Amino acid sequence: MKYREIRLPKLNGLTPNLEGTLLKLTEELGELCREAGKHRGMSGEATALPRDEVLANIAAELLDVAQTAVSMMYVLEESYDVNIEAALQKHVEKLIRKGYLKCE
Ligand SMILES: [Mg+2]
Repeated sequence: MKYREIRLPKLNGLTPNLEGTLLKLTEELGELCREAGKHRGMSGEATALPRDEVLANIAAELLDVAQTAVSMMYVLEESYDVNIEAALQKHVEKLIRKGYLKCE
């Protein structure tokens, strides 16, 4: 299997909770949608941003989404004793079962 490994830090400048990280996740997802949609002219509005800038902004917002998702995983582990490693294993098994991931 091919993996993209991205190491994201555990934030220590704030104390996130489940609801806060969930709201932040939707906020960041909205920002990602704005970059991928509006700033690529998909809303019908003219866009003045150069293509490279839009793509860089999309990557930045995607990382914001990933960072917030990782932060929410820490909250689930530390505040609710959710085993994220076990959830990850089930996730991979689901991908295989659905045919999205083929074992080599
Ligand atoms: Mg953002």
